[in-house]
Amino acid sequence: MKTVRGQCRLCLAETTLIRSHVVPRWLWRHVKDNGKYIAVDVPRAEVSKEQSDHQEHLMCRHCDRGFSAVEGAIERLFSQWLAFPSPRGGVSIPVDRHVYVPYETVKTFALLTLWRMSISSHSFYARVRLSPDVEEDLRLRLRHGRPGSASEYSLMVFLEQSGGLKKTMMTPMISHDPLSAGGQFLLWFCGGAYFSISIPGAPDLGSMSRFVLLENGRLPLALVDIREQPHFAALLEVRRLQEECSLA
Ligand SMILES: [Zn+2]
Repeated sequence: MKTVRGQCRLCLAETTLIRSHVVPRWLWRHVKDNGKYIAVDVPRAEVSKEQSDHQEHLMCRHCDRGFSAVEGAIERLFSQWLAFPSPRGGVSIPVDRHVYVPYETVKTFALLTLWRMSISSHSFYARVRLSPDVEEDLRLRLRHGRPGSASEYSLMVFLEQSGGLKKTMMTPMISHDPLSAGGQFLLWFCGGAYFSISIPGAPDLGSMSRFVLLENGRLPLALVDIREQPHFAALLEVRRLQEECSLA
């Protein structure tokens, strides 16, 4: 694997950095079909077929390998979530379905993903720019294995119910989510699931708090049709996306 000298973004040592994925390698395997996936630039309403899986020199080998177990565990969980049976009739958001997951593992994955997106220089992640304070807070949590409580960087996972977007990766962004009471959230759709992570300073989630991953491991898995969500529908060229998907 190609290496360069530099400062590890996690342990801050001046050392050899390895090239690693901004989001896990398995996720790229999951979304790719014949080496390509559908990339959706949400704010620009652009859809394209891409093959790059976004690697960058962010960490030293020791730090990078420290997250292998987390990423492996999430790969297995992700497949289980997507295989979760859907109720007949395709009801959406207010569905009380849940699974139990290892809290620290899933929360660490969420923080790791948010942090790597923010420190990445890749243009795909340009809309995920956290303040230096938040970046440093995430770095310390990851470095010391302290992902924190359920109300810090609250994680919600929704599953796309149409099933037509499994080969799709959307540009992640930090945005206001009209489903909630306002505030800032990482919004990221990839491979059939829609992740939302609250950024410090976001107000109380109100009725949406019932979808937050809890410390006892309870993870609600509500269904959404992402194309019917107002903030996506307004931005996406839905028909074009659907045509792209049907070709995939
Ligand atoms: Zn390091």
